[in-house]
Amino acid sequence: MVYKIDIQSNRKSQDGTILGKISDFHEQLIVHEREKVNILKKSPLTSVSDTEVTYYDRFEKKEKTALMFASNNYLGAITNQICIDTAIEATKKYGIGSGGVPLLSGTNILQNQLEQAIAQTKGFDDAIVFSSGFAANLGALAGLLSPDNLIIHDKLNHASLMDGTIMCGAKMLRYKHNDLADLEKLLRENSPLYPGGILVVTDGVFSMDGDIANLPGIIELVNKYNVLLLIDDAHATGVIGEKGRGSLSYYGIAQRDNIILTGTLSKAVGIVGGFITAKQEVIDYLRIFSRSNMYSTALPPSVLASAKAVFEFMQTTDIVERLNQNASYLRTRLKQEGYNTLDSQTAIIPIVVKDQYLLTQISKMLLDRGIMANYIFPPVVPPNLTRIRISVMATHTNEDMEYLISSLNEINATHPIKKS
Ligand code: PMP
Repeated sequence: MVYKIDIQSNRKSQDGTILGKISDFHEQLIVHEREKVNILKKSPLTSVSDTEVTYYDRFEKKEKTALMFASNNYLGAITNQICIDTAIEATKKYGIGSGGVPLLSGTNILQNQLEQAIAQTKGFDDAIVFSSGFAANLGALAGLLSPDNLIIHDKLNHASLMDGTIMCGAKMLRYKHNDLADLEKLLRENSPLYPGGILVVTDGVFSMDGDIANLPGIIELVNKYNVLLLIDDAHATGVIGEKGRGSLSYYGIAQRDNIILTGTLSKAVGIVGGFITAKQEVIDYLRIFSRSNMYSTALPPSVLASAKAVFEFMQTTDIVERLNQNASYLRTRLKQEGYNTLDSQTAIIPIVVKDQYLLTQISKMLLDRGIMANYIFPPVVPPNLTRIRISVMATHTNEDMEYLISSLNEINATHPIKKS
């Protein structure tokens, strides 16, 4: 049976069921079999054991297992026994919730300890934790900037940074991805027009391409034009730099007064929550003026304690090295086999499949072979860069990665991926 989904709207399928909101896609997508909708409406996980997961297949109406290559759980922290025990102990001691916003009754001693651990790991004076990385980015931008300011974004920055920009009302310009000449052009043209201040914003590691911001060059420019820099280290924390300290550590750059760093506790740290770390005056100011912190309930004790345990786990074991060995192995092997992995340098590895319909078929074929990956369509990426997005974990084995490659090769024989 052929189902035609009008991606601009939210139409019903022929059997009258709503196929899910598939808004924002630019073109129509023809789905030839009911199961292909799988890609757009995820099957829920029913159990997780490190890199192996069980999910409920809605169409076959049964549980199936898959090898996880789609999770931000880069270090395997989600199922790490020490981190789990720490969460349980904290819950027994303090209960399941914080009971208030941070500035009223919600600040637990565990929050102060986690904030110190984050600031120390990142090399800044102090930190504030938020209920999510998204909230941290909103809080930083809306707290620090006003309509008199200009924000200059890398074109591939995360959506939360865009939304923070809309919230603060500052003017926004975007430079070509990681392109220093384009950034300098915008700074040169605009710095005389914005005496109130300019903020340059970049992801540390880009969430769709897996490449790393050119921070030495960007910092040279922000110093030259005397403006501020915000780095979103969501996918850099626990992944790059010495013991996972992030993007500044990756380049051996120390704390600077004109840098503000944000991040999340939901990716390599494996839980939920976000943070801002910066010099003391900025943090003191944001505790009062970042509304997504001030008016939002503080994180529960289990999260605060286990997040700190994950930071310790990073510092005291070789887990980050293992992650990077795996990421480097898989990137090298995929390139050797002829796949287009763009400029990935990290544990996020895109495999470009330019044809959107082909990509929906490949997603089904990989899942049939027991591989769970992510599939990225417009508007998240341009139509000619739709992709399989692989996330490597420290706990994948070489056999797991070779199984992924042999599955891709098998699929490639009938559904060409390599020529993308
Ligand atoms: N920044 C980046 C670069 C991200 O990829 C994400 C998560 N998609 C966030 C911020 C938001 O983090 P969280 O999921 O913790 O809200």
